[in-house]
Amino acid sequence: MHHLTLIPGDGVGPEVTAAAVRCIEATGVRVQWDVVQLGSGAKKKYGSELPREALAVIKRNKVALKGPVTTPVGEGFRSVNVQLRQALDLFANVRPATSLPGVRTPYNAVDLIVIRENLEDLYAGIEFKKGTFKGLPRDTAVSLKVISERNTKRIAHFAFTYAQNHHRKKITCVHKANILKATDGLFLAIARHVSEHYPRIYFEDRIVDAMAMQLVMKPQDYDVLLCPNLYGDILSDLCAGLVGGLGLLPSANIGERGAIFEPVHGSAPKYAGKHKVNPTAAILAGALMLRFVGEEKAASALERATKAVIKEGKYVTYDIARRKPVSTTRMTEAIVNRL
Ligand code: NAD
Repeated sequence: MHHLTLIPGDGVGPEVTAAAVRCIEATGVRVQWDVVQLGSGAKKKYGSELPREALAVIKRNKVALKGPVTTPVGEGFRSVNVQLRQALDLFANVRPATSLPGVRTPYNAVDLIVIRENLEDLYAGIEFKKGTFKGLPRDTAVSLKVISERNTKRIAHFAFTYAQNHHRKKITCVHKANILKATDGLFLAIARHVSEHYPRIYFEDRIVDAMAMQLVMKPQDYDVLLCPNLYGDILSDLCAGLVGGLGLLPSANIGERGAIFEPVHGSAPKYAGKHKVNPTAAILAGALMLRFVGEEKAASALERATKAVIKEGKYVTYDIARRKPVSTTRMTEAIVNRL
């Protein structure tokens, strides 16, 4: 029996995490879930977007399955995701983007892994509102880009170890070190230095703007991308677009003392409660979580069943449907039946 935390989240979060839980249960793996609320829902109910009790449960159980949470744009509380990743030291974010038979896209052999530093960069949260940063004009706001040697080393070693363990051949470090010499220059120099410890993995680097174009034109030429936080966030959505959209991509946030698994997509507020969105990203996040807790057989079975339902194309949601789409629940049922 595994003791895990479930964070349903906001918007479509409860729908897609319920789908993932149903599928995990159908694999036969026994889980006792502790359910905690975070995000806008928690803010309304408990007065805090990240209640202390919820954080204690997540820390105690070490592994969680999470739905997306809504973050107010340009105002209000700091992103719960950023706060959570920092509070739990989840320094590595892993987002696999792989072509799925049955999903129509411009390319059919995309197999990318975006590995992203998850704590620093412009997401460190060191911001100065207009007029509060000494030495700059009063009409200016400032956000600091933070890159440390320690965290870059950690993520670079993580990426190379991941590549080795998953039989990957190449790591491309993404940066803008031609302009941001101090910060991205440090990220690149450390990644290059770390690469010397892994002679069997080919190492190269790309400037982020050129990388974006290359990914759209020749995604098959790339394998594992090692990115600072912001570029990894943006490029992983681009990679989602290459393989069929945000409804398909899972994500793992990994630290030395725990991990949180979630879909890459957000809370998609306009679809909340409509049971319309694709549960695949959350279900595949559940599969990554099963593998992390040692349930390899169940994880592979869940991935196979999900891919089979997508390939068949009979019971899939609106975003990838070639004929009449079905609801989140119906697609989930089809996956459960396959299992
Ligand atoms: P979003 O990912 O919620 O939705 C953008 C669009 O992507 C949707 O309108 C829909 O067309 C599509 N989409 C998303 N999920 C889908 C699914 N499962 N199936 C089919 N289509 C899907 O992005 P947004 O609208 O920019 O953000 C909404 C909120 O989510 C914001 O508050 C944002 O901060 C938050 N967010 C949270 C997380 C997280 O918790 N990990 C991640 C990203 C965004």
